[in-house]
Amino acid sequence: MDDLLRLDREHVWHPYTSFPPAVPVHAVARAEGVRLTLTDGRELVDGMSSWWAAIHGYRHARLDQAIRAQLDDMAHVMFGGLTHEPAVRLAVRLTELTGLDRVFLADSGSVAVEVAIKMAVQATGRTRLFTVRGGYHGDTFACMSVCDPVNGMHHLFTGALAQHVFAPPPPLGYEAVPDQDYLDEVAGLLARHAHELAAIIVEPVVQGAGGMRFYHPGYLRKFRELADEHGLLLIADEIATGFGRTGEMFGCDHAGVRPDIMCVGKALTGGYLTLAATLCTAEVAERIGVLMHGPTYMGNPLATAVAGASLELLAERPWREEVKAIEAALVDGLAAAEPYAEDVRVLGAIGVIEAHEPVDVQRIQDVVMEHGVWLRPFGKLIYTMPPYACGPEELAMVTEAMVAAARTLRTP
Ligand SMILES: *Cc1c(COP(=O)(O)O)cnc(C)c1O
Repeated sequence: MDDLLRLDREHVWHPYTSFPPAVPVHAVARAEGVRLTLTDGRELVDGMSSWWAAIHGYRHARLDQAIRAQLDDMAHVMFGGLTHEPAVRLAVRLTELTGLDRVFLADSGSVAVEVAIKMAVQATGRTRLFTVRGGYHGDTFACMSVCDPVNGMHHLFTGALAQHVFAPPPPLGYEAVPDQDYLDEVAGLLARHAHELAAIIVEPVVQGAGGMRFYHPGYLRKFRELADEHGLLLIADEIATGFGRTGEMFGCDHAGVRPDIMCVGKALTGGYLTLAATLCTAEVAERIGVLMHGPTYMGNPLATAVAGASLELLAERPWREEVKAIEAALVDGLAAAEPYAEDVRVLGAIGVIEAHEPVDVQRIQDVVMEHGVWLRPFGKLIYTMPPYACGPEELAMVTEAMVAAARTLRTP
């Protein structure tokens, strides 16, 4: 196994790393329920759901079975000119859940956002987008161009990114009453650029990888209003927020807003296979005509089959109560971190400790792993979005590990 880690270190690129990686990686042998087992025998409660995805936990019998059964029919066929039951069933289910009638199956979240941008450009004939700072929409070029310019490292790609219109980030706080000055500023900026804009693109209510920031649903309602007022499309990137994570099925549900275009991904397959989707209204689809996109593995039968099974499972599990219970446990458990942090915040099954300054990732990871927990901090953030299947004892392990990590932080 030392050999595995040595070869990994020599040849394998990991997300956002250099060679050799600054922080060592750990080898996983198995994952089951809410636990990862490392090749050295250590067992860790997974506080990350493999980046928002594994909402039902690992090796779920129903999801395993959905893939096995699909494998007996076919692993893949091209989607150009052909179709199949798992893709059609999934698309229908997604239209029921979102109220958006047209579904494009994409192979990752970033591709889904690329497709959403293509849809907006094709539907309006305009090319610029309006967004807010602090966002994250994926790593491909069009996606990067609407990520936060600082967190998204725009300076590394100067000249290669489309120039879009950025408003300041929505003021922090799910419960903080919308700030009229902010709303006026956004309205003014948007009015000045409306003639060249195709769409407003935002993550509803929770900005994920751009800073784990929660904002009041009133801001989202304002984005909808402004889009209508100026004839722009509203793109909701629900890739992180979708499927219950924030306490509602979608982030947009907090605001009672229906977007024109929506992206879903991450938890769509319950963390089994890469798959995402871009949905739009029938009216937008009509304006687009021929949508110029078609990935080789579009609608992959294994991925759509397991996504269908995952959505079925979600419909059966009391996810609303589970997410509420996780929220309560995170609020309780993380309160002790407050003296050491800039901010501690919780929304749905998302818990965040924001440090005063960027954290030492390795040191934090060592501490939480000593507590039997897997987390992956970034920037100033130590955060968790545990699987919905996480019980009270496991949640207590996660929050105790996070508080222990917070105690090691430097406070000003
Ligand atoms: C993760 C994420 C993406 C990108 O999805 P990938 O599958 O990693 O390409 C886009 N938007 C949001 C909001 C995300 O959280």
